[in-house]
Amino acid sequence: MQQSDWVYDWNLASPALIPAGTRVLLNDETLRDGLQNPSVYDPGIGEKIRILHLMESLGIDSVNIGLPGAGARAVEHVEALAREIATNRMKIRPNCAARTLENDILPIVEISQRVGIAIEAATFLGLSPIRRLVEDWTVDHLERTTENAVNFAVSHNLPSMYVTEDTVRTDRETVKRLYSAAIRSGARAIVLCDTVGHATPQGAYNLVKFVMDEVVKPSGEQIRVDWHGHCDRGLAIANSLWAVAAGVHQVHAAANSLGERVGNTPMELMLGHAHDDTAELSGDRQRCVSNRDGRSCRSHRESVSQRKHGIGEHRVQRRSFAPFRT
Ligand SMILES: [Zn+2]
Repeated sequence: MQQSDWVYDWNLASPALIPAGTRVLLNDETLRDGLQNPSVYDPGIGEKIRILHLMESLGIDSVNIGLPGAGARAVEHVEALAREIATNRMKIRPNCAARTLENDILPIVEISQRVGIAIEAATFLGLSPIRRLVEDWTVDHLERTTENAVNFAVSHNLPSMYVTEDTVRTDRETVKRLYSAAIRSGARAIVLCDTVGHATPQGAYNLVKFVMDEVVKPSGEQIRVDWHGHCDRGLAIANSLWAVAAGVHQVHAAANSLGERVGNTPMELMLGHAHDDTAELSGDRQRCVSNRDGRSCRSHRESVSQRKHGIGEHRVQRRSFAPFRT
């Protein structure tokens, strides 16, 4: 008896929004955004190192190891985590959050140099009209701030990941201007954020498409594009999948959906969606995702070019999505 004899699958009744074999990277925010949830505590370094190894064993591609600009304890923990990755030659790649201020970026430079590994500087900036009104900021000021921060990171040999808060509620002109400024200044990864959990799947798709068409393609550079979304409306997984459908290369997520307010995209569900058809049938993810090695597709080719810039990960080639249909 065939499976199709007893399951009629409406999921297959239209073309897939995310074609089978689409590759995606996963960035773990549990140890940074996850600790900003009101009902968690900041664990000791021993527990953080154990969590780091669990991420590695799950095949997660990159990890935010903290915001060292927050003070001495944060510096100590970030350095210990970076050293653990370096000493054990772990495959997971570290990044650190920082405001677009030299005082926040400098500790990342120093830790990267002391430990001897690349740490991506995820410099973030608020740019929405609401934030500009509250802070009395102009777009000119934000553009200069962006250029200075990215230039500072790149000139100190840090890979630059440029992040804007509340991107989903920011006008097209400002989005285009600031991300273009970041890329011009040397950022090779950009992060589009639904910091406030406002987006719908269609909104996530529209924003990613806009940035791909109006910012990334005209730049002529190989840029990794990330999606970072919160779950206030219960749409974080759907938004992340639609962002992948629109072309993002990496999704941010946290264990158990931890994170500010109601939290981030749940990592465990993203890992589940990242199973391919074969893996879902066999239940043996590690063995079956390896079957995808060498398969050529758009994202595979992009990941190869990303590796040349030190921002990709060979592991991406072993993870792919099952077809996702609306
Ligand atoms: Zn967040």
